Amino acid sequence: MAHTESALPLKNLQGKVAIVTGGASGIGEATARLFADHGVRAVVIADVQDKNGQIVAKSIGTERCSYVHCDVSDEKQVKAMVDFTVEKYGQLDIMFSNAGIRSKSDQTILDFNFSEFETLFGVNVRGMAACVKHAARAMVEKGVKGSIVCTASVVASNCRGGTDMTDYVMSKHAVLGLVRAASQQLGVHGIRVNCVSPSVIATGMATNAGFTSEGIQMIFGPFTPLKGIELTVNHIADAVLFLASNNSAFVTGHDLVVDGGFISLPHSIITEN
Ligand code: NAD
Repeated sequence: MAHTESALPLKNLQGKVAIVTGGASGIGEATARLFADHGVRAVVIADVQDKNGQIVAKSIGTERCSYVHCDVSDEKQVKAMVDFTVEKYGQLDIMFSNAGIRSKSDQTILDFNFSEFETLFGVNVRGMAACVKHAARAMVEKGVKGSIVCTASVVASNCRGGTDMTDYVMSKHAVLGLVRAASQQLGVHGIRVNCVSPSVIATGMATNAGFTSEGIQMIFGPFTPLKGIELTVNHIADAVLFLASNNSAFVTGHDLVVDGGFISLPHSIITEN
């Protein structure tokens, strides 16, 4: 399925090799498809949803898309997935570290559950760091001036807090810290590190928590100054494409917020849905 609405010129990523974590659904899937539309030589989808991941890889075309089972919270699996990519396709140019999970429960600080926090941080923070580490190592080893993009969130960059989902809010602040630190450290190698911060979209993560597209519009529409348009995964994919491609050649350490100008609002409104 071609991503026909993209405003960016086609073939931005000609010849590049990319990894997309969390590419079996939602934002990751849309981005893997957009990367393919823009001429990547290969895209590796890394996820834990094997059936979906294989379906997405097959529909993009197995000659240039592979699915790899990889639980990003396990550094060994991340290293193996990056090694597989470099062995199969020769190098790594783009890492879109996007896999993430939502809070399992409300998680206010008064009833903070450290076991849930550790599971969530394992994916959203340790997983992100493992992907950035091993992608950067592969790029440095081959002398590739690559691009690393992580998925953060407006809960870190715009709302700057929340009345619940404390572990999730903390994890996305950590992603901003990771991007800022890594961008400083990897610039010497010509490697850029940035993140995208979406507001709310009805992907699996949101629908599993009871959100629908219509519900999201009702709750967030009044707080989104930009009218007549609804945020989709394709808008996030476009932002990632910009950061992954040479169109953003002098951009690093940046948090590209994609939220229609969303105004910070009490987090209880978000979670009362
Ligand atoms: P999604 O649930 O559709 O996609 C998340 C993907 O990550 C899934 O395919 C899932 O299988 C995968 N995943 C989960 N745990 C994993 C693990 N341990 N190892 C590898 N893969 C794993 O939801 P999405 O909205 O596309 O989420 C993508 C990213 O966007 C997440 O980091 C999320 O925090 C962030 N985000 C989403 C929203 C939103 O409203 N949907 C807003 C801001 C940020």
